Amino acid sequence: MTTDHTQLLIGGGWTAPATNNRITVRSASTEEIIGSVPEASTTDVDAAVASARRAFDDPNGWSTWDPARRAEVLDRLAEEYEKRAEQIYAAVSAQNGMPIAIARQLESFPPLLFRYYADLIRKQQVEEVRDGILASTVTVRRSPIGVVAAIIPWNVPQTLTATKVGPGLAAGCTIVIKPSPETVLDAYLLADAAVAAGVPEGVISIIPGGRELGAYLVSHPGIDKVAFTGSTAGGRAVAQACASLLRPVSLELGGKSAAIVLDDADLDLAKVGQSLFAATLANNGQVCFLGTRVLAPRNRYEEVVDAFAALMSGALVGDSLDESTLIGPMASSVQRDRVHGYIERGAADGARVVVGGTGRPDGLDRGWFVRPTLFADLDNNAAVAREEIFGPVLSVIPYGNDAEAIAIANDSDYGLGGSVWSTDPERATTVANAVQTGTIGINGYLPDPQGPFGGVKASGIGREFGPEGLAAYQALKSVYRFD
Ligand code: NAD
Repeated sequence: MTTDHTQLLIGGGWTAPATNNRITVRSASTEEIIGSVPEASTTDVDAAVASARRAFDDPNGWSTWDPARRAEVLDRLAEEYEKRAEQIYAAVSAQNGMPIAIARQLESFPPLLFRYYADLIRKQQVEEVRDGILASTVTVRRSPIGVVAAIIPWNVPQTLTATKVGPGLAAGCTIVIKPSPETVLDAYLLADAAVAAGVPEGVISIIPGGRELGAYLVSHPGIDKVAFTGSTAGGRAVAQACASLLRPVSLELGGKSAAIVLDDADLDLAKVGQSLFAATLANNGQVCFLGTRVLAPRNRYEEVVDAFAALMSGALVGDSLDESTLIGPMASSVQRDRVHGYIERGAADGARVVVGGTGRPDGLDRGWFVRPTLFADLDNNAAVAREEIFGPVLSVIPYGNDAEAIAIANDSDYGLGGSVWSTDPERATTVANAVQTGTIGINGYLPDPQGPFGGVKASGIGREFGPEGLAAYQALKSVYRFD
């Protein structure tokens, strides 16, 4: 059975698309067609932006509403998402290969974020009055930044939409969302939730399409801010477009984070196996923040290699919709070929292939599967240690002491996530503080909505989550009083 949509959510209602072009979606596990949606055209983008603009500029509209009223809409959106959660998890899992058990974790953030930002906006003062130094008082006023273009990648599509929709709607912005062509069926479930939640006309539009459509949206004259999550290459192109327009942009990009195993770490997989897996291999390695460079002390090197080899060879590879699957297929044949290219490259560069290698996992004769692959006996200069692979491929890199581990961790173009594994909290904190990264975990890793999430260096500019994520959707105005 396939799910085929015929309309687009533009301006709060279902609308016929301007052209007959369509996006066909295949199951990553079976390669069979599982659905299709209209591909939005530039005419549809114009309509979506115009409707978002009208809604934003309406003097009595959404952007001027009492924040508590917008918070109610966000709370309803959270409820409607929850009603569709199982369908959403299944749609994401089928499309991008995310194991269903992992989808229940990684794609469960949206209601949490909608409620988190509803709460924040309820509590936030729109105006703050400060004593002036030259003026008598300065009133600092927060207002919504405007019409937002949200560009979403395919790897964790719902949560990465919610990191923009949650704070954006709370702030009073209107949003045009462009999902990736690989993950559009879940976007329709969110659209359905938005309609059911009574999100007012023009506040959310969803325009499925590829990078050219994204580029058109980003540069559209009706857009006030761009929120982009995706590859560093895509982010650079978006940043360039925004630079010439002087348009605010937040960029959540790629990563090549370090999982630093200190020499006092507990490597008993019965205790830490799940956390190690989540921090390095979740979603088949298709997560930006994963610690894909495992830094291992020389005096415990083989032990660390053995632990990860056990973790990877013990992880069940299979159909992403199977409850017991821990590693599913890659999201597309292009991504599968890219990962295979890196597996070949690592071996050709002389790394030891401890587990995996190219070729299909046993017993899986269809689907975009790769074998989870562990490289050892390589240094941080190898291509597989420097470039983002975005698959279940880890490299174990040896180091001498904590200072050397920190230096290797920092010897990267990226700085997004990472983790430190140790039984000494003080030592782990010292190492964590020294790593040049936007976020880091100690004895585990999972972004928490309370803390700003984002990268340094080629991992991006700006932060999502936390009050900082709300501030990204607000403009500040200072009113100086002299009377
Ligand atoms: P991608 O850059 O190819 O595409 C991401 C989105 O941007 C898609 O919707 C795409 O159509 C659009 N796009 C691409 N080029 C564009 C352009 N020039 N103008 C406008 N839109 C454009 O990335 P992907 O392959 O879909 O996603 C995987 C990448 O995303 C990885 O590099 C991963 O690390 C990164 N990512 C980062 C984070 C984060 O929060 N830092 C989170 C998830 C994924």
